[in-house]
Amino acid sequence: MFPRLAEESRQLRDLLGQVHDHAATVAEGLADRPVAKPDQTVPGRDLTADGIGTDAALRDFADRWQPGFSGSAGPRYLGFVTGGATPASIAGDWLTSVFDQNPTTATDSSAVGFEAEALRWLADLFGLSPDHGASFVSGATMSNLVGLALGRQWAGEQLGVDVAEAGLAALGELPVLSGSPHSSIVKSMAILGMGRKALRTVPTLADREAVDVDALAAELEALSGRPAIVVANAGTVNTVDFDDLTAIADLRRRYPFWLHVDAAFGAFAALDDEHAHRVAGLDAADSICVDLHKWLNVPYDSAVQFTRRRDLQAQVFRNAAAYLGPLGDNPDPVHLTPENSRRLRALPVWFTLAAYGRAGHADIVRRDIALARRLGEHLDASPGYRLLAPVRLNVVCFTAAGDPQRVHELNAAITASGETFLTPTVYKGVPGLRAAFSNWRTTETDVERVAALLDSLAT
Ligand SMILES: *Cc1c(COP(=O)(O)O)cnc(C)c1O
Repeated sequence: MFPRLAEESRQLRDLLGQVHDHAATVAEGLADRPVAKPDQTVPGRDLTADGIGTDAALRDFADRWQPGFSGSAGPRYLGFVTGGATPASIAGDWLTSVFDQNPTTATDSSAVGFEAEALRWLADLFGLSPDHGASFVSGATMSNLVGLALGRQWAGEQLGVDVAEAGLAALGELPVLSGSPHSSIVKSMAILGMGRKALRTVPTLADREAVDVDALAAELEALSGRPAIVVANAGTVNTVDFDDLTAIADLRRRYPFWLHVDAAFGAFAALDDEHAHRVAGLDAADSICVDLHKWLNVPYDSAVQFTRRRDLQAQVFRNAAAYLGPLGDNPDPVHLTPENSRRLRALPVWFTLAAYGRAGHADIVRRDIALARRLGEHLDASPGYRLLAPVRLNVVCFTAAGDPQRVHELNAAITASGETFLTPTVYKGVPGLRAAFSNWRTTETDVERVAALLDSLAT
């Protein structure tokens, strides 16, 4: 064995203890670290032939690279929809690496059964019936991709074509209809060979991002019975608007379509009695995307994919190999998602749900919603800013009063301050900024600091 590796194998407990202390210090200091650190220059170092050992590697990392890492896991990072990592989820994540399980089949360990328990807990959290099968994937993009791949296979089934065998060319154009789809839907369409141009953007309701269900019905009518995919949105990134899922699901009585719901973070509305009605009808979907590294507050990368048609899933993602055996009614995970070998993503999810339960996670959701509302009220009352949409859930979408073009300059100043990080957007043609609340650590004091910064930058 390479001498240094042999030595570190004897010092394993000490080494892991050292890294543990270092990580705990970082975690404790998250609220004080600059929230964003753009455009750093870090002096490079070449790969050494013999290595420097884990101890020296930790010091080199801490000296050169760590200072430039953002506070994205901390309480005032409000860009994208980012979430954080609960203590229990970090514990689960550490164990994921230690056990290093590959939950592809149930032939050698209980890891696949463990995943099934975590997936059952997730279905319960979102109020989904046992008719939904579930799989872990790396993020909402991959979950949307799987959902669309199932819709593609389903459309083939309607027309007597096995797309997984014959290819998409045998099916022809497959329209995807959606009001305000996330960019990852379009990316998935490109990957799946459906093509970005197969997207038909359906008009939304006035001053909303929610689809106009009558307009959707008219577009489906115009397809004259040809199968399509409808992507309904439960929580848009700009204004967290929700399509009427029940009304859309009802349209399936009149038109043949696969209903995929992108509920990447909107699904968490189900945990708050005041907002649960927004996701009414979610269970009726054919496939559902929910991100876990956002509002569940587990570390990257993690998402879940639900579907009522596990049989189609195995048709698409079947990984036939002599040593893997026949599929049966309950196929191993290796036959259900794009990956073959995978990380045991269930561990952080299982730990955080076991540790805090439904009530703990509902509390994170409710607090984040209250904090978004508070910042929204502050900006609404401030002469320097104007809300671009009401604060429906956990995102505040706003612009500069007067000249909205000023948000570019504002955003640069906000990022440079290190106090918070927001992401720019364009909403209904107007440049704006979004502040998204999804971290368990964020408090009212953080909102006050963000509000004070925005006040100081207003003209
Ligand atoms: C974040 C998000 C996605 C993409 O998620 P990733 O985790 O970045 O892959 C898709 N849809 C919606 C609505 C999202 O908010």
